[in-house]
Amino acid sequence: MATIPIPSGLQTHKCVIGNDVLPEIPALLRECWPEDDRPVRMVADTNTWKVAGQRVQELLLAAGIEVDTPVIFPGSVLFHAEYKYVELLREPLKGHRPVSVGSGTLNDLVKRTTEELGIDGYLSCATAGSVDGYTSAGAAITKDGFKQTLPCAAPLVIVADNAVVRTAPFEMTAAGYADLAAKVPAGGDWLIADAVGATPIHPVVWPMVQEHLLEWLDHPEKLLVGDETCYANLFNGLCQTGFAMQYMKDSRPASGAEHLYSHIWEMRDIRKDGVQPSHGFKVAVGSLITTALMEEVYFHCSAEELRQWSAEAPELTPERRHAQIDQCLKGTTMEEGARKIALAKLLTGEALRERQELLYAKHDELAEKLRRQLLPFEELKRRFALLGCPTSFEEIGLNVPEWLEYSTLAAGMIRNRYTILDVLTEWNITPPILARVAKRFS
Ligand SMILES: [Zn+2]
Repeated sequence: MATIPIPSGLQTHKCVIGNDVLPEIPALLRECWPEDDRPVRMVADTNTWKVAGQRVQELLLAAGIEVDTPVIFPGSVLFHAEYKYVELLREPLKGHRPVSVGSGTLNDLVKRTTEELGIDGYLSCATAGSVDGYTSAGAAITKDGFKQTLPCAAPLVIVADNAVVRTAPFEMTAAGYADLAAKVPAGGDWLIADAVGATPIHPVVWPMVQEHLLEWLDHPEKLLVGDETCYANLFNGLCQTGFAMQYMKDSRPASGAEHLYSHIWEMRDIRKDGVQPSHGFKVAVGSLITTALMEEVYFHCSAEELRQWSAEAPELTPERRHAQIDQCLKGTTMEEGARKIALAKLLTGEALRERQELLYAKHDELAEKLRRQLLPFEELKRRFALLGCPTSFEEIGLNVPEWLEYSTLAAGMIRNRYTILDVLTEWNITPPILARVAKRFS
């Protein structure tokens, strides 16, 4: 694997993944910024400088490209994507061609600074297959006290050298695997959204992520022994997800309800032994929950059963929904947005009955599609456990059933993106389904 084909019209023009691809960087810079003699400014941390930065600098100098003194952050667990670092990078990156050498955090900082300076793109040299955010438009940065996705263009060029990516701490690779595996239940959510007419399947974007997803995720045990093909597949899968988001200008191809759980936990600043679990690790538990929810609703219940539970449940009125929002999100940064979104999508009366009829009519067809789409809960759990990803609430510092109930309710309020959580709300079957899902985690 080397140069990966990318659909035209994206912000990213080149994606190079494979063995010993760092020497291609000088030619890539010349190709993507022709007739441009601005010096390069590299941004790395002390670890990524050692594993790749220094080598890239030597290659650039040997190719006659001017390189100014690099910005090297401390390689510490305390170094996060905070906005103050964007401010710090503005001056050094001005008038330069930026090259980031690092994983998600450094890439996001350079991505956003490049955007703010109005620079025409940057090159990202990835050092870990840890997130799908390398190639997405937008950077996850903590600003004004909370994490937000700040808009910015994706990298013009992305390079991932197998030998470099394989030296990353394995926990980062495991987190990347979980973030890629999340596209399986996220695809399930999209199938559900398609069935109710909320978000039709996009004929170009869907196969970009889903066509080879199970192949990319195959043989996780080989990641443990540094198998080159598996590492390249994982990185390629993460990049393709980013390209799909660029193409659709939306994160639907990459994220469903499993990411909504992760957003809630992020907002609540959950910790295990004082440390925040990585994005991929939160998404791993989110993916297990949403897979279990889909299996319970679509594989273990008939449409008739759901209709009966629904008839027995008290109706979800706007007043009750307000009370739930108070209970889950009052006083948080998400309260205001959730109130608008959750109330706007709340169906009542005739509209609700019509939706329930549609869910009833589509139940068996969706069950069939989901059987083909999903990795079964037990298999997903086995793979995560094999790689050291969390498979229980306790491993990310939470407990069942309190956090399961709270997070399910809260996650269903925060985005206008149709998922299995909306199916639960519209059928009004959350308590009995959650009781079953809780058993899987106890
Ligand atoms: Zn993600």
